[in-house]
Order: sequence, then structure tokens, then C-alpha cells
Amino acid sequence: MGKANINMTFDLKELSSLFEKSNSLDDFLQSAVSVVAYHMRSAVCSIYIYDDATRMLTLRATQGLEKEAIGQLELPLGQGLVGLAMKELRSVCAGRAADHPDFYPVAGSGEERYPAFMAVPIRRQLSRVGVLVVQDVQPDYYDETDEMVLRTIGLQLAAVIENAELLMGLHRRKEPPAARPVEAAPEQIKGLPASDGIAMGRARLIVSGRAGRFRAPASAPSTLTIDDFDRALAKSERQLKELQIDAGEMLSDVAQLIFSAHLLILADEKFSGEIRRLITSGISPVDALVEVVNGYADILATSTNQRLREKEHDLKDLGHRLLENLIGGDRAQVDYSGQIILADTLLPSDVLKLATEKAEGFVMQGGVTAHIAIICRSLHKPMVMVGPEMFARIQDDSELLIDGIQGLVFVQPSRKMRAVYLRQRQATAKLESVPSVKTETHMADGTRIRLYANINLLSDLESANSFNAEGVGLYRSEFPFLIRDAFPTEEEQYQVYLRIVQSMGRREVTFRTLDIGGDKLLAYQGGVEEDNPFLGLRGIRFLLRNKDVFSEQLCAMLRAGAGGNARIMFPLVSSIDEFVEARELVRECMQQLERRGVAYNRETKLGIMVELPSAVAQAADFAKTVDFMSIGTNDLIQYMLAVDRTNAMVSRLYLAYHPAILRAIEIVAAEGKRFECDVSICGDIVRDPRMIPFLLGAGIDKLSVAPRRMPDVQRAVEAVTMQQAQSIARTMLGFSRISEVEAFMKNPAPVPAPELPQ
Ligand code: PEP
Ligand code: MG
Repeated sequence: MGKANINMTFDLKELSSLFEKSNSLDDFLQSAVSVVAYHMRSAVCSIYIYDDATRMLTLRATQGLEKEAIGQLELPLGQGLVGLAMKELRSVCAGRAADHPDFYPVAGSGEERYPAFMAVPIRRQLSRVGVLVVQDVQPDYYDETDEMVLRTIGLQLAAVIENAELLMGLHRRKEPPAARPVEAAPEQIKGLPASDGIAMGRARLIVSGRAGRFRAPASAPSTLTIDDFDRALAKSERQLKELQIDAGEMLSDVAQLIFSAHLLILADEKFSGEIRRLITSGISPVDALVEVVNGYADILATSTNQRLREKEHDLKDLGHRLLENLIGGDRAQVDYSGQIILADTLLPSDVLKLATEKAEGFVMQGGVTAHIAIICRSLHKPMVMVGPEMFARIQDDSELLIDGIQGLVFVQPSRKMRAVYLRQRQATAKLESVPSVKTETHMADGTRIRLYANINLLSDLESANSFNAEGVGLYRSEFPFLIRDAFPTEEEQYQVYLRIVQSMGRREVTFRTLDIGGDKLLAYQGGVEEDNPFLGLRGIRFLLRNKDVFSEQLCAMLRAGAGGNARIMFPLVSSIDEFVEARELVRECMQQLERRGVAYNRETKLGIMVELPSAVAQAADFAKTVDFMSIGTNDLIQYMLAVDRTNAMVSRLYLAYHPAILRAIEIVAAEGKRFECDVSICGDIVRDPRMIPFLLGAGIDKLSVAPRRMPDVQRAVEAVTMQQAQSIARTMLGFSRISEVEAFMKNPAPVPAPELPQ
């Protein structure tokens, strides 16, 4: 029987009348904790209120704890038992709080005297309002009935504090903003590693630059003239042209027109003319610039054309450049060097632009297999993905150190920490300058494994060669398409593909045809907006609907393959029929090239990416029909587990080692063997050395991965024999629960080493 005085459990009306009698939210909360402590026969009752903007819980009322702690005691979401109740939106009950694994001692509140602990979330539908806590001196004091009663009170409280967020907002404005220790002190944020490397710099929040108004700093000089504006205009144009040349040299396949939108706006007479007109009418150049940029931004933001809406970012970017050149003279910052971009959403083209403008690294919200992460790896820019809660805690302009290998973000890192990371960065650079990948990869018993490179940009070819890639297992052909204002011509594509084939000589190159849609949208796709882009016109579906685009690409690939060893692979194939239709088009393209008298590779092999559950279910049919299959786990995981690969909120569910994924891989490998169809794997599962023994044991003998990951992968292959790998795969395939796979991967049961051949 619980301690709660159930008969006296107050109802909503009682709470509402308490609220009406109170002068303020704090008054009300204080009355509420007294009443709840009485009903629950508890020594302590406290209410913590949650602030969504800072993701912090603050003690706002208590009976039993030290009163001085009110307003001072703060807990980040997820920290301690209170933070846990709020984060996971569930009750947390502990007979002895200090024994709970999530216990977090808080000095100065006096709570150590009350070991029995129970907390329930106060929530309003899906939003977090706060946490209601009771505590007592007697260990194991609360039982299930108490929990039920407290939960009911929590629900009723939420109904009354419905507008807590608003009230908190009003309240906060009355108080002088207190310096938050969490912002000042060094802090470590755990995210997910999206692109290797270490970067340091100041946070530059792009999310607010996009969503908020373009503003001038308060300290802008008031003595500027129209001549200063003209000088700023000319200087901005010079800088952009230089950036464009640099980008064109470094990233010839993708960055030819990367700053075209900026340059076009600059050249637009209406834009600069409007600013001049305002200046001549007596408005200061800074205010004139701000007014015109915001006016244009409003037009773009409300456009029904997605492509135009995206230009809002370019416009504000340009506005900042003009402003800095206007007020900063020679000291104006011309690029993002020394800065780490903090953004919730970016397009692959934004990432390219920012990387060209020397941004040091990226902290984003999203999943690690999102295409912005993939492009970051090719650009050698570190990227860490963090969830929305952690993201909101990183302040614009704070000093950051990001570790893209472990997925860590350090806010205000100490000098010591910087020194440690700098040394690590130097050591990594040294290792990379002397690549250590052998030309052939063998398992510990001599079994031969092929190690290929995934290529996204032409600039990856150099690394692929220096890491001794045996071929290109996946060339993602979409990136040259993503940045332009129109589809690249057959000739432009041919030149890019030819560079890859030439660079690989006789080594095998697998071109993947255009895989756009999902998180890779073309600016010029015609304003098509889909409710579920990942389930929409993506990959082969887009190509079969746009056969002119498809044919041009196929012709370019077939031509580039002449004299080389190239194959063509179709993405996101969901049926044999789609493959057959695509193969038909390849035949037509061959006839067309024949008629044109252009050389091409008549023996070009055709294959598919296995990325969909339907392709796994029909693996045998595909194996009989296609020349080769490559397993794309990035999408296979997303579609088999129904977990959006770009959504940070579900990234914990995005598991390459989910039993269903392991079995899918094994099925495809086995069917491939049965019908003598070449099977490889090119998804990010290969990046994880812990998964290598499973893949090899499941029958995969061709692995393709980003060049920089090849040394780790080769080492992982060399560390096991085939017999060991098969035993590991068998064990892992026998598990039905994720937790069993996790436990095994943490601590694999020893597999007896076989006698190796002499
Ligand atoms: C995959 O889906 O695993 C894959 C390699 O393709 P992408 O990441 O480009 O979708
Ligand atoms: Mg894919």
C-alpha cells in the first residue's frame, strides 16, 4: 500500500484554484509542492521547470531542500535522475538514489539526507514542461501505487502550467541574464562522428543567419559614403572571383559555378542601384545595405520556388561580405577560416561553398550517413553530428574544438586540451603523408580480399591512388550535378568520368548513375516538392522518368569506359523490371553511340545497388539477372529499419548491426555465390573495423570504402582468418536481439585460432 493519501489526491480544480490564488508562477509552484509533499507524505517535494531553449532544468520550488537552491540548481537535460526523467519522459524511482547508475550528486541542495527518490515528468502532449520529484529519509520508501499517484499529479500540473514556456520567457526577461556556468566552463558534447579530423575555431551559427534578419552591428561607423559602398562592391566582386578560381582549380568537377549566385546578385543593377538610391536619399550606406538585403531576402523566402528560397542563404552571405568590406576596410574577414560552422540544415552545395571559403569544420544536426557528411569526408573537413538538445547548447561565437573521429565537440576547450589535440592532428597528418596500405589485401590465413575506394569528387582520386585502392567500388556521380544551375552536358560528364578511368588504368571502376532525391535535391529539378522525398522520385526512379538525362549520362559513362575497365551500377532498384528497363536504355545508348561513330565499351557490365528490402527479398532473382550487386548499407538500414538516415532524433536506432541487417547481408552474399554473381559492399558499414570479420565471414570478399579509411580496413582484414570470421558471422547471425549483438561485439567470445598454412 502506498504512502500517498489517495483519497485526498487533489484534482485539476484544486490545482487551478491554487493557481488563481497565486501572484506568480513561482508562488503557485511553491504552494503546489507543499500540497503534494503533504499528500505524498514525503519529506521533500520539488518542481524543476524545463527551458526548451537552453535544454536546462531549473529548481523552481521546493519543500524540504535548501531554499537557496531555488533558481540556482540547474541540470542539463539527461543529467542525474531528474534530467533522466525529463529526457526519457518516464518515471524514475530509486530506493537509494546514490546507488542508481544515473545518480548525479548536487552539492548545496541538502538532498543527500533523503535517499528515497521518485521523479515523474510534467509534460504537455509532446512538449517537456518540467519534473516533479518527491524524496524521503527512509530508503525504499515509495512503491508502485505512489508512482501512479505522482504520475497523475504530474499530468494535472502540466495542464495548469500549460503556458510554462511563455511564463518562463517573461520571467527570464525580468531578470538580468545570469552568466551560465555551462557556457563559460569547458564542456564536452558527445555527438556522432560524421567526417574524420580535428578542427578548432569559433562557432559561426548559420541557422540564425538563415532564419533571422540580416543586421548591421551596433558599432557600424556613421561616416561612410557612397564611394565607400562602391569600393566594398568592387572588393567583394574581386574576392568572389578569386574564390571561384581557387574552387575551380581544386574541385573542377563540382565547383565551376559555385559562387555564381553571389556574383549574379552583385552584378544586378537593381540590387546595387537600389542601395545607391537609398544612400543618396540620406540613408547611411550600412542601413541602406541592410534594408535592401532584407527586402530581397523577404521576396526569396516567400517564393514558391524552392530553388529561389535556397538563394536566401547566398544573399545573406553576400550581404555579410559586403557589410564587412564596407565597415571593416582591410581587416574585413573574407572567408570562414578560423570558424566552425554550426548549422541545422545545409545542402551539399552549401558545404562545398563553405569548405571553399575555408570553414574549418562543421557541427550539424543529422545522421552520419547524410550526404552532407559524405561530401565533407571528401573535402577533408571534420564534421560532428549532434542531436537538437546538444546543438542548442552551443553558443554562437564560442570557442570550439571538434573531434570528427570520436564525434566530440568541446566548448571553450582548455589550453591543455588544445595542445593534446594539436599533437594528435600533427601525428595523423604525418601518418597520412606516408600511406600504409599494401597493394593486396589478405586475411590472416592468406584469403584474398579486394579493397576498393569510394569516390565522391575527382579530388578523392589522389588519395585512392596513394592508398593503393584496387579499384573504385563506387563513384557517386551526383555531386557534379548538385552544384550547377542545369544538368551537365554529356561532354562535361564524359570529361569527369574519363579522368576517373584514366587515373585507375586497368583497375575496375564502378560508376553509379545519378542518385538524386532524398537528401540530395537538384536546385533545377523544377520546384518538385515531395512529402516523403526518401520514398519518392529518387535514384533509378528519377532516371527512368527523365530518360533524356539518363541517356546522356549513360552515353558519357559508356564512352569513358572505352579502353578502361568500367561498369555501370543503378541506385535504389526495387524490382527486376526497373533493372530490365534501365538495361534496355543502355542498349539503345550503345546503338546511338554506334550510329554516332563514337568509341565506347561494348562489354560494360551492368549491376545494381542492393539498398531496399525488396532487392534483398529478390536477391536470387537479381543474382540471376544482373552482372553484379553492391550492397549499400546506408540506405538498406534506413529502408529496412524505417530510420531516416539524416534525422538525428532517431540516429540511435540507425544500427548497422541490427540482426535484420546482418541477415540481409548474408542472404545477398549467399545468393550471389549460388548464382556466380559478383557481390561487393560499399555502404558505410565498411568504415567500422568491428564489422569487418562479420562481413568476411558472411561471404563478402570485395569491400569499398572512403580512401582514408582503407588502412584501418586492411588491418582489420589481416587480423582474422576466414575460419574465425565465419565462426563470428555464424554467431552473430544466430542472435535475434540487438543487445545480444552489442554484447558480443563488445566482448567477442574467443574463437580458437586454426593452424595456419606454413
Ligand atoms: C548506400 O546507400 O549505402 C550508398 C553507398 O549510397 P549513398 O550513401 O550514396 O546513398
Ligand atoms: Mg544509397
